Amino acid sequence: MDHQPHVLILPFPAQGHIKPLLSLAALLCHAGVHVTFLNTEHNHRRLTDLQALSTHFPTLHLESISDGLPTDHPRSPIHRIPELISSIMSLTKPLFRQLLADLSSKSERPVTCVIADGIMSFAIDFAKELGIRTISFRVFSAACLWSFFCLPKLIEEGHVPVRANDDLDCTVTGIPGMEGLLRRRDLPSICRQELDGPTLQLFIKETQAMTQGSPLILNTFDNLEASILSHLAPLFSKIYTIGPLHALLRSRIGEDVLQSLSSFGNLREADRSCMTWLDSQPLRSVVYVSFGSLVIMTRGQLMELWHGLVNSGKPFLWVKRHDSIVGVEGGSTIPMELQEGTKERGFFVEWAPQEEVLAHPAVGGFFTHAGWNSILEGILAGVPMICWPQFGDHQINSKWVSDVWMIGLDMKDTCDRSTVERMIKTLMEDRREEIIGSMDGIAKLAHDCVSQCGSSYHNLDKLIEDIRQV
Ligand code: UDP
Repeated sequence: MDHQPHVLILPFPAQGHIKPLLSLAALLCHAGVHVTFLNTEHNHRRLTDLQALSTHFPTLHLESISDGLPTDHPRSPIHRIPELISSIMSLTKPLFRQLLADLSSKSERPVTCVIADGIMSFAIDFAKELGIRTISFRVFSAACLWSFFCLPKLIEEGHVPVRANDDLDCTVTGIPGMEGLLRRRDLPSICRQELDGPTLQLFIKETQAMTQGSPLILNTFDNLEASILSHLAPLFSKIYTIGPLHALLRSRIGEDVLQSLSSFGNLREADRSCMTWLDSQPLRSVVYVSFGSLVIMTRGQLMELWHGLVNSGKPFLWVKRHDSIVGVEGGSTIPMELQEGTKERGFFVEWAPQEEVLAHPAVGGFFTHAGWNSILEGILAGVPMICWPQFGDHQINSKWVSDVWMIGLDMKDTCDRSTVERMIKTLMEDRREEIIGSMDGIAKLAHDCVSQCGSSYHNLDKLIEDIRQV
């Protein structure tokens, strides 16, 4: 039998998971490792740059598996994700078991290692049954992951579930390393579910499942989260911190290759007209507004954000996905002052080339939902942020942005025009120097860790070495 390393990577089928895991796949292939990247059929069809990926990474095999949902099911935004999870657990799981058994028994280059996204722990279980090496990958920050590990204690101490009429500003005990820092409102959003809520139970189960002997890969870097990583370390045989992965990819495979893969890891085609618009804007003047691939908002919230942006007087570039607005409350009329303010200073796109936008010299602020990829991309570009967290890890990420790294502001649990306007003015004017000062320091650490002597660069080498020891 051929015992060359062959890694099977299984991402959870959502944008924020596919991009970092595909970055890892490309990095492994760049080192000569064979990788099968298993997308769902739905996402495989949407992944851009398929041809270019195969050309640049000849050892990358892009395969697909059914997610069990009908073709016309949208799969996202966020309120459709539970249906996706449920379909994966009932229909994809047995298909995956069969596929893995086939791939591991092939005489030519059988699968020797499975890297599975955190909430797909069934892949780890099946791999172990077949005697295949396993590694877990979590797309969250170390801080968020550590809070998931502490969920049983938080429940025991009565902090979870967090209910609407609880004192949300009450400080939370029960998470070592975060004492005095975290309030109930900063806990991951699943903590606002009832104890028997399906997602809360799933996260508790999947988090505990990760510690059963598999090492862990995290898209973070040592100098960013050292103290929290020290709490996670005893739970795993090994933790490979190799983030920010999008930056490590640039550092390892080079800008020229990445440029030919212009929308690497994207499930949507970016509208590049915004780059020309940015070229016409003054240096560091523009607020880039993007709430990722899954966030939804009501029309009322849209109007508050929009008024706040226009009233701030700053130019803005806003990614407004067609599927992000829900409900019809307030009608469809757009007030004259918004129409005029937008014509003068605003630009909307359906999807932007985000990394390029953040790197553009005209961009001075990032109004984000605080998804982990967006935070890391903002840090690398050195662009200070306003966070409007909505679900998942956003709440804890935004707390870290404002109170630990001090690289932005937290606009949690509010959405009114005067707050938006005030936050933008604070970020772009009043506290700009102070926030930029902290951001410059953190951005430098991010660049250093992916350079040749950096921790993430070194940890990737170690990971590749370990994968090669079949
Ligand atoms: N993104 C993009 N263009 C956009 C909006 C988002 O390329 O217009 C990318 C962004 O660069 C990031 C990912 O989509 O890599 C979003 O991931 P994140 O974890 O920030 O949020 P999620 O979509 O998972 O909520």
